Order: sequence, then structure tokens, then C-alpha cells
Amino acid sequence: MPDRGGHFGPFGGKFVPETLMAALDELERAFRKARRDRAFRRELEDYLRRYAGRPTPLYPAARLSEALGGRRTYLKREDLLHTGAHKINNTLGQALLAIRMGKRRLIAETGAGQHGVATATVAARFGLQCVVFMGEEDMARQALNVFRMRLLGATVVPVTSGTRTLKDACNEAIRDWVTNVRTTHYCLGSVVGPHPYPMLVREFQSVIGQEARRQILEAEGRLPDYLLACVGGGSNAIGLFHPFVRDRRVRFIGVEAGGTGLRAGRHAATLVKGSPGVLHGARSLVLQDRHGQILETRSIAAGLDYPGVGPEHAYYQRIGRARYVAVSDAAALKGCALLAETEGIIPALEPAHAIGYLARLAPTLPRRSLIILGLSGRGDKDVETLARHLTTDGTNPRRV
Ligand SMILES: *Cc1c(COP(=O)(O)O)cnc(C)c1O
Repeated sequence: MPDRGGHFGPFGGKFVPETLMAALDELERAFRKARRDRAFRRELEDYLRRYAGRPTPLYPAARLSEALGGRRTYLKREDLLHTGAHKINNTLGQALLAIRMGKRRLIAETGAGQHGVATATVAARFGLQCVVFMGEEDMARQALNVFRMRLLGATVVPVTSGTRTLKDACNEAIRDWVTNVRTTHYCLGSVVGPHPYPMLVREFQSVIGQEARRQILEAEGRLPDYLLACVGGGSNAIGLFHPFVRDRRVRFIGVEAGGTGLRAGRHAATLVKGSPGVLHGARSLVLQDRHGQILETRSIAAGLDYPGVGPEHAYYQRIGRARYVAVSDAAALKGCALLAETEGIIPALEPAHAIGYLARLAPTLPRRSLIILGLSGRGDKDVETLARHLTTDGTNPRRV
């Protein structure tokens, strides 16, 4: 748990306009009350099970393991959830909290549109109003997700400021929240932003690691040696890691987007290349220039394309509890093809980064090593990108 002010060591906290302090306090009180309330927990569990599709399998990827020299790897299959990724774990939890607080309007920011779709989905399910802020640039790139959100009854608001991408959509969502705070809950999509969001989103995503821990003990009779997950804001990774945090022998590896190289503007590897700073209401690591201007980011995986990261990850890195690495677009594409060929599973480009790193790491590990990889989402949303990149040499579509 963070301290009372929401700090993980030197990271976290609340850096927001005065008008939002009361709303953040209200949210924290509602959250603390709900997590002690058996009726709330039971209701959330019921939706996770019967609506979202939990528990997800912990799948022994035997042919992938074989291809990597026999190090046994299990996949935690969040890709099988309703809407295709782990994001629904969080939006279900926050929608139920919003209802408890008497707020019938949800707002959200989205980059690729995955969090927007997950928010629009639960808003439809509970009959809540839903407004999603999305950069104009992202709307053009992710037209299908814009359509999905609208089909689900949400209003998608184009954001035309700045670079017209995710960080601008975050600013716009915060602005709306300041204006409509009495009626509106801001449904934040990752373990970022001001306290209590990093704590609250982690709590809703920890179901991933709680299940995985139980499942691996059942399957192998022991804990894994490594946990691997991709890190954008960091919610699927922290959800997998956190229930193992006291198991000192279990090593955590977070995989960031290395883009087309680790020079400024070409990647989104915030933990690997960032420096301390304040972004979107919290102190964490940030990709910024010498003057504190936020740098542009890029990644083939839209869900990783963000210049900030959750404060708890910055803390884990600082104290050496987790290690963070960057994997390039090209290695992620190879990871994607590898999983498709060996297991018949097409992953989203985000977790494909973790598979790309696994391909590098596994051959260097002792033979008996046991690994769990968080498969945060499925690749349907990415097939156009995959088709564009995996066929560029005009021959075998499996070659990058
Ligand atoms: C959004 C997304 C991510 C990145 O978000 P985190 O908060 O870092 O988990 C990763 N994988 C998928 C499939 C996503 O949709």
C-alpha cells in the first residue's frame, strides 16, 4: 500500500487543481469502504465471472516453450476476456464504484480506443452516460474502435490540442472533470494519475496475479521464477506482479516499447529512459527534455504509446524489486509471429513486446526455469498493422 498521501517512496501523490481534491478524497473514501464491503466484492466478482469471463486460464504454452529451448512458460490469458483485454477488470470495478457514489456519468481518456471501448461497454451495461476523449490523430488511426464506442452508446469527443494523441486526451478529460465533478466519475484507464487511482486500479487488476498464483501452485506445486508483462501505464503488469510482491524469489520483468530505437521521440520506454517529473497529476518517471517539455513517443503498439508510467513501477525500479527493459517494434512483431505459429494465438502488439523479450531471455535461463507471461490482450485490433509489417518483403508473411 502507498502511504496516506498516495506515495510509493518518492513517487505518486496528488498534483491537481484545488477543485479536484475533494473529488479524489470522496473517491478514496468510497473505494476503501467498498473493498471492506462483502456485498460490493461479491457483486464485482459476479460480473467478472459471468459478464467478463473470469477466471482466465493459465495456459501451459508447450510448443512456445519447446521453441525457446524448453524453459516452461505459462500464459495468463487476459486476451480471452470480454472486449479482448484486461481493461474490463478495471472499468467494471470503477463503474460499480461510480454507481455507489451516485454518479451516473462516466468520462474516460483513450489512446488506441481499448480503454474507451471497455468504459463504453460497462456504461452500456449499467445504463450510465459515457463520454470518451480521444485525440483526433488517434481517432483517424483507430476508426474501428471509434465506431465500436459509438455503437455502445458513448459520445466520442475529438481532442484537437497538442499532438492530438493520448496525453492531450488526458488533459481534456481532467478539464471536463473539473467542470462536472458533482455528477461525473473519471474512469481512468491505468495505474497512473493522482492518488487514489494508482492504488485503486492496481486493486482491480490484482485479480490477474491472484488467480495466476493459485493456478501455478495447482499446476506446478511451486511459484514461478519469472513474471513478464508489457508496461504502458503499467496496469496489467502491476496486476500480475503485486500478489507476488512478498515472494522474494519471484522476479518481475516489465517490458516497455522500444519503438524504432532509444533516441528521443522514437520510443515510449519511460522507465528505461525517463527522469522524475510530474505528469497528469502524479510524480513519476516521465519522458521529457531538459526543460521539462514532454517528449513525443512512438510505438507500433498504441496501448504502450504514452510518455508517463505508474508511480509504483517507478518505485519498484528504484528499489530493485522489478527490472524494466525495452523491446523494439521489430522484436514485438517477431514475438507476435512466434506465438501465432507455435500456439495458434495471435496476441495484441502490446504483450507481443513481452514475448519478444521472452525469446531473448529464455535461452539464457537455467533449464528448470518457470515463467508466467501476462498475455494482456488479443490481436484482432492489430491485424491491419500486422499485415502491413509482416508482408513487406513480399514473400513469407511470417518474416519481419
Ligand atoms: C491498454 C493495453 C496495454 C497497456 O496498458 P497497461 O496499463 O500498461 O496494462 C497493454 N496491453 C493491452 C492489450 C492493452 O489494451
